[in-house]
Amino acid sequence: MPSAATLDVRDLRMGFSTPAGLIVAVEDVTLSISKGEVLAIIGESGSGKTVTAMAIARLLPVPPARYLEGSVRMGEAQLLALSEREMEEVRGRRIGTIFQNPRASLDPSFTIGAQLVETLRRHDPALSRTAARAASAQALREVGFPDAERVLASYPHQLSGGMCQRIALAMTLACKPELLIADEPTTALDVGVQARILMLLKRRSQATGLPVILITHDIGVVAAMATRVLVMYGGQLQEEAPVEDLLERPLHPYTRALIAAIPDPDAPRGERLFIEGEPPNLADPPPGCRFAPRCPLAEAQCYKVQPALRAVGPGRSVRCHLV
Ligand code: SF4
Repeated sequence: MPSAATLDVRDLRMGFSTPAGLIVAVEDVTLSISKGEVLAIIGESGSGKTVTAMAIARLLPVPPARYLEGSVRMGEAQLLALSEREMEEVRGRRIGTIFQNPRASLDPSFTIGAQLVETLRRHDPALSRTAARAASAQALREVGFPDAERVLASYPHQLSGGMCQRIALAMTLACKPELLIADEPTTALDVGVQARILMLLKRRSQATGLPVILITHDIGVVAAMATRVLVMYGGQLQEEAPVEDLLERPLHPYTRALIAAIPDPDAPRGERLFIEGEPPNLADPPPGCRFAPRCPLAEAQCYKVQPALRAVGPGRSVRCHLV
């Protein structure tokens, strides 16, 4: 049973109905996050990390998405049992989300001020328009806009992608969520802006205890931000560890491959090491370990028997026959 955890996910199994049949995109996912933690979920495209995050916030339309098994709890609330209307309340008040494309969360036809005021008053209907405007300016200053009044009067198209992402963050944080889910929030931004936004997020989490689930494919971002890390591959958790342990002593061969794939700072821009081979086809996953076709250590049993996720130390678990 969940205790102090802000969020507690147990045995989540999630699929999509397709013309070719049911594709299970995420299975056997168990995770929890408490106040003050930044939990990074890392993996390549198609590993299941984004589906897991979207499933927690119930942002995947049903159908074609299907919740097959498991539970997602916040305090006393079992999120998978809530109606869509109740879930909208949870998303507005308890779970904040920011995504890769900040412009998608801003309406191009309204000023930033109008949108921030509207968001704050929806969150707290007792707030007067004047008070909401003042709170909006304060929220912008907290994400690094000293000229908040100018930004409030601007339309999204007048601002850069990095500014829009900071505004999306301000909008989300101003509603004081209990949990923030950030899905690749800085991937589309240049390195300097990325560092600034990540630092803002980290400072806010440290200052207020806001738990953050950070979805990323970038080990550098994990090293800078996370307190704990989940590694996903083929729709399954492969390894979980505190961040220092994971970076200093990765146990799973896939985690080692991901760390080795950090961009080489001396390599020409954009050039990086890739992991050989292709991720598994989830419509027809391999019968044994999902990483076996790409694993340099694979043995005969790896192709036949699926390894279970096993605890191997405090806060550490791994899914590999050889660990
Ligand atoms: Fe590699 Fe086998 Fe471990 Fe899978 S179970 S990661 S194939 S060694």
